[in-house]
Amino acid sequence: MILLKNATLVHLHPAEVIPGVDIVIDGTEIQSVGRAAGEGLKPTRSIDLAGRVVMPGLVCGHDHFYSGLSRGIMATIAPCPDFVSTLQNLWWRLDRALDADTVRLSGLVCALEAVKAGCSAVIDHHASPTFIDGSLSTLKEGFEKAGLRGILCYETTDRNGRDGARKGVEENQRFARLVEEEKKRSGKQRLVEAMIGGHAPFTLSDEDLTALAEVVARSGRGFHVHVAEDSFDSSWSHRLHGKDALARLNDFGLISESSIIGHGLYLTEEDRKILNARGAYMAHNSRSNMNNNVGYNSALPHVKNVVLGTDGIGSDMLLEAKFAYFRHRDSGGPLGPGAFMRFLQSGNELLHRSFGESFGKIEKGYKADLVVLDYDSPTPLMRENVAGHVIFGMGSRDVNTVIVNGRIVMENRTFPWDVAPVYAEAQAAARLLWKKMDRL
Ligand SMILES: [Zn+2]
Repeated sequence: MILLKNATLVHLHPAEVIPGVDIVIDGTEIQSVGRAAGEGLKPTRSIDLAGRVVMPGLVCGHDHFYSGLSRGIMATIAPCPDFVSTLQNLWWRLDRALDADTVRLSGLVCALEAVKAGCSAVIDHHASPTFIDGSLSTLKEGFEKAGLRGILCYETTDRNGRDGARKGVEENQRFARLVEEEKKRSGKQRLVEAMIGGHAPFTLSDEDLTALAEVVARSGRGFHVHVAEDSFDSSWSHRLHGKDALARLNDFGLISESSIIGHGLYLTEEDRKILNARGAYMAHNSRSNMNNNVGYNSALPHVKNVVLGTDGIGSDMLLEAKFAYFRHRDSGGPLGPGAFMRFLQSGNELLHRSFGESFGKIEKGYKADLVVLDYDSPTPLMRENVAGHVIFGMGSRDVNTVIVNGRIVMENRTFPWDVAPVYAEAQAAARLLWKKMDRL
């Protein structure tokens, strides 16, 4: 049992600020919350937070831990005048260069970085075409070593031939089975769940979609895919299949309330109607969209379920929320800061749909996934202005302690094990990876 004393409880959406509360954690869940809730208890750990902010842990709704060794990349990258050449010249060379060891290191450093930024969970979309079989288990080990919760999938694609597509489907199926077995064995103790992944409609044939739909139906897991990130995906779908990109996926039964659609910039109005009717989630990644110059998703106000993701640019969700808000303002959009808190909160609903447990509130019976911040507020912090504090102030620099599944995974900005060798190993591996890319 862990007792957090004298916390300032903050919920982002619906907004709430309650100073002076105790939070009692028993096992993987919150047992009680309130003034003097810990009185008379004999916890194994008692931590006086002296008024520090405690929030539900942040959730990244769309990420790529395979890109962890690409920061500051010094491989030779040919000019990328459009989106598809960016994929061909950079990302598809990087993912082909990954092997078991670089997937392991990339995943582990990304998991550590996510915890440092206040994340308690990351929903990942993985690719490593020369190391497919077992890749999700390798990634899972990194999540578990860092203590981070995750939902993993393999992004099936036919860009490396029929055999590559088949192996992608099989890895999703294998991993979903493994997670299902673990669920039966260890229940609430498990940290990692599965989704079924596809890269994007323009690299998935009808045969691939049929195979993926079978795995989705058999596993009971949702589908995670990029759709209409660039106009190319939409044009390709019309040219080859005579359908809108999302409508095509829907025809295969792949769009449900457990699905995540990455980006969705070029969804048609009909596509958005399907997305909303099915209750699926759209992952919005504003920094990635700006970096790839694919345009802006001005339809955010018309999508029912929006979650924020980083698309591989770290997992700093407090920063991502700021970019998402400022880019929206820059486009003349109508949404205020509060809408972006709702988008942040949506990640917890996705966790609920995958794990079947309660996430995203500091209340009895909810999972003990929490972040403690050293937020020195220069102005009053109140229910009415929480969103303003997040957009204009609170940052990952304030993250002090992270608790996931009732376990303290980072305390006072320190992991309970020496992470320095991991970073050293990752730096050495990154150099070799970049050299390998130059030969591909
Ligand atoms: Zn992505």
